[in-house]
Amino acid sequence: MVLKITSDCTNCVACETECPNNAISQGDEIFVIDPDLCTECIGSFDESQCVAVCPADSIIKDLSISDTIEELLAKHNKIHKVA
Ligand code: SF4
Repeated sequence: MVLKITSDCTNCVACETECPNNAISQGDEIFVIDPDLCTECIGSFDESQCVAVCPADSIIKDLSISDTIEELLAKHNKIHKVA
């Protein structure tokens, strides 16, 4: 599963630089997470870095995307070119 940012986002920018995959960017109104790049931080950290720093608690699991842990790790390895 990947994460998404809800309308509670206050555009504080705290999350953007924390993402190891550069998955977070400014959208039209609030920050957005690219589901093709989000791995829930699997392979990089023990917890989702964006969730850890979000002061508005506006980052949640996107239940519409059901990546398995194995798929998320494979995505991490592809992004970071891990053999
Ligand atoms: Fe980036 Fe990790 Fe947040 Fe996904 S969970 S957007 S990989 S910081």
